Parts: sequence; C-alpha cells; structure tokens
Amino acid sequence: MTNIVGMDLPEMQAALGAGLPAYRSRQLYEAVYKRRVDSLENISNFPKDLRAQLAEGYRLGLPEVQTRFDSVDGTQRCLLKLDDGKTVETVLMPEGERYTFCISSQVGCPVNCQFCLTALMGLERNLTAGEIVGQILKVAALNGLETSIDRLNIVMMGQGEPLLNLPNVIRATRILLDEDGVGFSPKRVTVSTSGILPKMLELAKEPVRPKLAISLNASTEEQRQEIMPITRKYHLKDLMEVCRSYPLRSWEKLTFEYVLLKGVNDTDADARRVVKLVSNINCKVNLIALNPGPGIDFETPTPERVESFQTIVQRAVPCFVRKPRGLDVYAACGQLKRMELTQISGGSGTSA
Ligand code: SAH
Ligand code: SF4
Repeated sequence: MTNIVGMDLPEMQAALGAGLPAYRSRQLYEAVYKRRVDSLENISNFPKDLRAQLAEGYRLGLPEVQTRFDSVDGTQRCLLKLDDGKTVETVLMPEGERYTFCISSQVGCPVNCQFCLTALMGLERNLTAGEIVGQILKVAALNGLETSIDRLNIVMMGQGEPLLNLPNVIRATRILLDEDGVGFSPKRVTVSTSGILPKMLELAKEPVRPKLAISLNASTEEQRQEIMPITRKYHLKDLMEVCRSYPLRSWEKLTFEYVLLKGVNDTDADARRVVKLVSNINCKVNLIALNPGPGIDFETPTPERVESFQTIVQRAVPCFVRKPRGLDVYAACGQLKRMELTQISGGSGTSA
C-alpha cells in the first residue's frame, strides 16, 4: 500500500480522488503533518466511509523505533527501522528549553571522509521524502514534542550526504517548513554538505530551502583532498567561490564546520588560513574536536589546542566549539553507524 507520509498537497488530492472538494485534502494534509494522527482511521473530521476508502489503498507509515539509546547527557539516539528492514539513525538533543533533531538523509554515505564512521558503511540507499519527514514525526511523537510550538531545530547531519539526495531533501524540506504542514521555521532547519558544488548551486535556486552548513574541515587544498577524497573532484578554491556568491537571506549566515584532527589540520597556521578563506563571507565557524571511533585513524586534539584555534578564528568571524553530545551511546557527529547495544560498553539502550 502507498504511504501517505511524504506526499504533498496535490498528491493527497489525487489520492483522495478527483470528486472530493479541495478542503478534504487540506484536512488530510493537516491531520498527517500538523496534528500527527497515528492512523488514517483516526482522522476525526473525515466521515467514516472516507476514512475506510482511504485506508483501503493507503497507509500512514512511519519508521519504527528499533532501539533507543539514552545518553547520560540527555541525548537520545534512535535506531529507526524502515519499510525494507534497513535502519537509520535520528538523534534528539535537548538543550535547556530547546531541542535539536539530527536526522539522516541516506542509509550510509557514499562520500568517503576518512574521519567519519558513517563512511565505513558505504551508501546503501537514499531515503525517500517520507522517510526524512517520518524521522521528525516519529521522534517528536515519542517525546511528546509539538513541532509548531516547541523550540525545535533540525539539522540534517545524521547519516548521509543530503545534497546527493537533493530531490527528496527538497520535498521533505517543503513539508517540514510549510506552516500548514509540520510547521518549522526556515531559520531552524539546516542542511550540512561536504561540498557537492553543482548541488549547492541547485539548492541556491530553490524558493523554499533550509539554511546551509558546509563541512570545510581543512585549510589547504592538499589537506582537504587527503581527508575528504571527494574534494579531488570538488576543489576548495571553487567551493569558496560558490560560498562567496551563495544567495543568503537577510537573516542568514553560512555555517562552516571544521573537524579538528590532532596534528593534521589543527595548528595556529591552519586557523590563520581558515580566517583568510572565510573572512569575506557572512558566516560563522563551528569547531568540532574529532569524535573517535573504531576504524578511525585520527586523534582528538587537546582542549588547549582547540581553544587556541578558536581564539584565532574568532578574531575574524563568530566561532564556536561544538560540544560532543551522546558520545557514550555513539550519537555524536561522525559516529552514526547503527552501533547496537552489544557493540557499546556503557550507555543504556532500550528496545522498543
Ligand atoms: N554529510 C554531511 C552531513 C553529515 S556529517 C556533511 O559531511 O556535512 C555532519 C558533520 O559531522 C560534518 O561536519 C562532518 O565533518 C562531521 N564529522 C564527521 N565525522 C566526524 C567525527 N568523527 N568527529 C567529529 N565530527 C565529525
Ligand atoms: Fe558522509 Fe558527511 Fe560522513 Fe563525509 S562526514 S562520510 S559526507 S556523512
């Protein structure tokens, strides 16, 4: 049966059949994305026969929680099972009154960054728009979060390279940002890319789009090619060119992310080169000290090294150090590789 989750309004209209007035498809759209009903039979403002007719051909399919891992710092990592039995990860990070969802865009990732655990999986497949939106609907419901009211952010920084699944990412974004849909503010949804240049240019043209973060991760062309082999195709020089001309909205800044690898890209000279690269761009820089993992041949720099790097970059642009979240349950950046309970020592996992 066809899944309703992931459909836009015209597709819902088609699913209901041509004979029905347009307000019915709007009711369906709101019930699925705004009120988040848990089954098509529970759309209370639909007559009984319409509910039954809909349920014959369609289903409201959300990913299932296979396992939930709760970190000591409040971070929650959910291993979600998709229709075909594959799993992806969604991380929920509470920060005071706010929550940030870190969602996946692909099962695994085809980009071979040398410091990232997800890279070791390779690409299994793209997620559908319904599976991208479904991660939010499922994890919000699990935690009783109201998507249009609560202070919620989304970062597409889980498994996968979102810009290599751009059509589904854009479809999902439209539903997530639609006031009549899930209802997130465009200021609170960010997509992160390793720098797939032609796709960045495509995204720039979209009328409804998330904010953009770029994983810079190196200060020279050679260094970047070494740790992110894909940049042999998409050069640093061209990336900075695209960033300089990227059309930002009045309230918007680009974000650069920079994973600090001990002795590789973390010196003061690197920091000064980063300043040169970004200083004429309206941006901020987020530093992430490497989160280590099995099979990753890099080390984490000392907090003093990280601070020294930050001090230099901060003279030019706002620069923050991202605290690792959920390290004990493999929920932190670059650690998402479906690690199961048996593979983790410490941290608590609950099967659902
Ligand atoms: N594929 C996209 C989004 C997911 S990765 C991208 O690369 O931007 C999200 C962020 O985690 C990226 O900035 C990436 O550089 C960072 N990251 C990857 N592995 C990491 C690790 N082991 N420790 C810290 N950050 C890591
Ligand atoms: Fe893929 Fe991002 Fe990991 Fe690189 S850092 S392998 S692009 S998920």
